[in-house]
Amino acid sequence: MAKGHCLVVGAGVSGLSSGIRLLEDGWDVTIWSSDFSPNTTSDIAAALWYPFLSAPVERTGAWGSNTYNIFKELARQKDTGVSMTQTYEYFRSSPSNPPWKDFVDDFKRTSENLPSGYIESFSFVTPIIEMPIYLEWLMKRYESLGGKSKKKTISSFDAIRPSFEIIINCTGLNSGELLEDEEVYPVRGQIIRVKAPLTEMYLDQQIENLAYIVPRSKDVVLGGVAQQGSWSLEQNTEDHDFILNKCASIIPELKDAEIIEDLVGLRPGRTEVRLEKEERGGVDLIHNYGHGGSGVTLSWGCADEVVELANGR
Ligand SMILES: Cc1cc2nc3c(=O)[nH]c(=O)nc-3n(C[C@H](O)[C@H](O)[C@H](O)COP(=O)(O)OP(=O)(O)OC[C@H]3O[C@@H](n4cnc5c(N)ncnc54)[C@H](O)[C@@H]3O)c2cc1C
Repeated sequence: MAKGHCLVVGAGVSGLSSGIRLLEDGWDVTIWSSDFSPNTTSDIAAALWYPFLSAPVERTGAWGSNTYNIFKELARQKDTGVSMTQTYEYFRSSPSNPPWKDFVDDFKRTSENLPSGYIESFSFVTPIIEMPIYLEWLMKRYESLGGKSKKKTISSFDAIRPSFEIIINCTGLNSGELLEDEEVYPVRGQIIRVKAPLTEMYLDQQIENLAYIVPRSKDVVLGGVAQQGSWSLEQNTEDHDFILNKCASIIPELKDAEIIEDLVGLRPGRTEVRLEKEERGGVDLIHNYGHGGSGVTLSWGCADEVVELANGR
């Protein structure tokens, strides 16, 4: 017999991962969502495992390392869209070691073979998660465990009838409006999909120079920008040129790469990820939103904590 009936609101990476973990734990789960893949912010993510624009470090560290290990397992399976990838992160001034240094594979520092203007690099192996493939895999896994889903938009968490023991809020950036949470803000991103024969990943994760070159099975994703407070979903030519120039300064051949398309998404920024339980009208409401630029990176760690909260721990 199921532990109880749980409603997850939202079908991005947070909602699907939470739904899967709850089903595996013996809950009956239904997802309501205004949109599903390919129409979520999660679809736009590049996506690489890398803690970026998310807080607090005391919690994101554990969520991130848990998620890294799950992605390592998923990379060994077929059709998940996850692959472990040799990565180089470049720096213009000498960096301190990252908090995640000891749990990623093959972490090294080097000052050799650097693009012009850089003085040091980290080399490590990290997952690339090809989101259109991965979200489809997540949905299939969710359904194979008996998860139900419905296209439905909620206007308030108070308006949901109490036929569910627990509600999980995974509405991403929309949580700001739904909960009048003033700590939520958009961080606009734009990416360019190109064709290029690359197999390794190259990064500059400093906000002022932000550049990422993410090789996937049929394209390479180039980024990026992180424009805090911008709600614009329009593609911007200035951003396109800015991104292309930054990436070409790392891999010059990208200057002439065939462009497939530009995509824009709004990262769900928040002062801190909100992962906690509150009681509303006799129902437990568990929030799992505000992951900034790390929603994929933290997804399984957060989903496991959702289950702990659902079980009253
Ligand atoms: C350009 C770009 C690059 C990125 N790159 C990376 C990366 O490399 N690595 C990484 O970890 N992260 C990356 N991110 C961040 C990542 O995309 C987000 O943190 C993550 O997608 C958030 O997932 P989510 O499921 O919480 O929200 P979303 O994907 O936004 O999903 C929210 C869901 O809630 C539903 N919803 C919203 N309101 C309602 C409502 N009222 N009623 C019902 N349903 C509702 C939506 O339809 C949707 O299904 C990137 C983001 C961008 C924009």
